[in-house]
Amino acid sequence: MTNTAAPSYLEPDQIAHLQHDFESAHPQDILQWATQQFGDSLAVVTSFQPTGIVTLHMLSEMAPHTAIITLDTEFLFPETYALIDRVESLFNLNLIRVRPELTIDQQAAAYGDKLWVRNPDQCCHMRKTLPLKDALVGYSAWVTGVRRDQSSRRSSTAIINWDSRYNLVKLCPFANWTEDMVWTYIQAHDLPYNELHDRGYPSIGCLHCTQAVTDGADPRSGRWAMHQKTECGIHISSFEDDRARE
Ligand code: SF4
Repeated sequence: MTNTAAPSYLEPDQIAHLQHDFESAHPQDILQWATQQFGDSLAVVTSFQPTGIVTLHMLSEMAPHTAIITLDTEFLFPETYALIDRVESLFNLNLIRVRPELTIDQQAAAYGDKLWVRNPDQCCHMRKTLPLKDALVGYSAWVTGVRRDQSSRRSSTAIINWDSRYNLVKLCPFANWTEDMVWTYIQAHDLPYNELHDRGYPSIGCLHCTQAVTDGADPRSGRWAMHQKTECGIHISSFEDDRARE
């Protein structure tokens, strides 16, 4: 689906001021500002991990019609699909399930079986990055659940920034929250979460590329554990020639 709402632009100096102000702001206040600033041209992108659940809970009370985009790679865990259905119903979400251009069979026919084993960057590019790029056309801002404590590569995440890869404002309202703060909120509000978290999966992506980790391990070490890869590419580019491939 392509959004047709009128864009609401921010000048670079406005973004710079907001970067400063948002460092000490509560995520709920940042989300409130975003819904007022961007209205129907705001989209939340979530994979229904804990920070995403908190985001959806806050938005359900202040702007329940906000567009919620989730990338269905068609390789998600059954537990993830069950959670998406449950949260969609619980919050009556305006949910947009974005699927890749190629089905699993079409991808296998064109690129060979188990591409995620041989070339996970290419698989993520086709099943995540490109579909997201198409889905964000027409929106003025997107909200993500990226936090600085998730990994060293995410440690400098800006709460608000201009996203030149997708040509819109990017908001990470929870950038300076910790994992403990997220779980405290979930428990305080008795919110649902992916049951895989209770079985050793702190970070959950596709079925083929996510493993359980031992207690105390890097939370993202179960993602693409057989590869050097640490990011799918939608927040931080996975390969140097990313732009060339798009
Ligand atoms: S996480 Fe794995 S299966 Fe999912 S899109 Fe990326 S490479 Fe493909």
